[in-house]
Amino acid sequence: SVDLEFRGRTRVITISNQKGGVGKTTTTVNVASALASLGARVLVIDLDPQGNASTALGVPHSAEVPSVYDVLIDEFPLADIIQTSPESPNLLCAPSTIHLAGAEIELVSQVAREHRLKTALEDYLDSTEERLDFVLIDCPPSLGLLTINAFTAAQELMIPIQCEYYALEGLSQLLGSVRMIQKHLNPSFHLSTIVLTMYDGRTRLAQQVAEEVRTHFGNEVLDTVIPRSVRVSEAPSFGQTVIAYDGQSAGAIAYREAAVEIARRGPNEPTNEGTS
Ligand code: ADP
Ligand code: MG
Repeated sequence: SVDLEFRGRTRVITISNQKGGVGKTTTTVNVASALASLGARVLVIDLDPQGNASTALGVPHSAEVPSVYDVLIDEFPLADIIQTSPESPNLLCAPSTIHLAGAEIELVSQVAREHRLKTALEDYLDSTEERLDFVLIDCPPSLGLLTINAFTAAQELMIPIQCEYYALEGLSQLLGSVRMIQKHLNPSFHLSTIVLTMYDGRTRLAQQVAEEVRTHFGNEVLDTVIPRSVRVSEAPSFGQTVIAYDGQSAGAIAYREAAVEIARRGPNEPTNEGTS
C-alpha cells in the first residue's frame, strides 16, 4: 500500500540526543528495519559502546568481533566489519563492541580524529557494488568525539524526544553543537527530523510536551508519534526489532509510519541559514 522509490543519493542520518534513555537506539533500529521492509537498503552504524543497536539487530558483537572500533582506530575498511542482520538481507549493521568505550580517549591523539568515520563511510560507499539508500548512525548519550564523528559523517540529524518532564532540557546545547559542526566541520549537516517517542496520550504531560515541541520546531517534527508500548521494549531481549518481533503491534505500526514519512519528506534541507 506504500509506494516508495529509493533511487536518490544515500541519506546519512545520525540519531542523537545527549540524554540517555530517550529512544535513540530503539528509533534507529526500528526505523532501519521498517525502511528495509519497504525495500530500502539500510546500514546501521552502532556508535554506542553499549552496543544496544547491534543486539537489537541480532548481530554478534562480543569483544573479539571486528567492530567500529577497528574502523575508527586502526583504519579497517567498513566492508570488513559490516554484518547482515538476520532480519533482512537489506539490513546491514556495523557493530559496536566494548572496545569502543576506549575510543573516545584514544581518538584524541589521532590524526583527523573528527573525520575518521566520514572517510571510512565515503570509501565504503565508493567501493560497494550494492548502493545504500540510508545510513543510520546510533550515537552514545554524549557530545564527545564519537558523536562528533557521526555529525561529521552525516547530512541529517534526527532527534528523538521522549514525551516526559525535562524533554527539552539540553536541546539548546545539542543545537549549539550542530552549529559548531556546520561552521567548522560539515556545512551540510542539519536538523532534519524530530520524532516524539514513548508517547502516552492518556497523560496531559505527554500532550503538553508534544505541543511544546511542535510549537518550538514545527517543520522538523514527524506527524507520526511513537506510542509507549511493552512490545517495543521486549523486542531487544529477543535480538529483534519490534518490526520483526510483533509487526502488528502499535509500536511496529508507528515505526513503519515514521519510516514512510522520513522517506517521503526527503532530507528536509534548510532553505536559509540555521538549524531550525
Ligand atoms: P537511548 O538509546 O536513547 O538510551 P533506548 O532506545 O535504549 O534509549 O530506550 C530506553 C529504554 O526505553 C529501553 O529500555 C527501551 O526498550 C525503552 N523504550 C524505548 N522506546 C519505547 C517505547 N516506544 N515503548 C516502550 N519502551 C520503550
Ligand atoms: Mg542507545
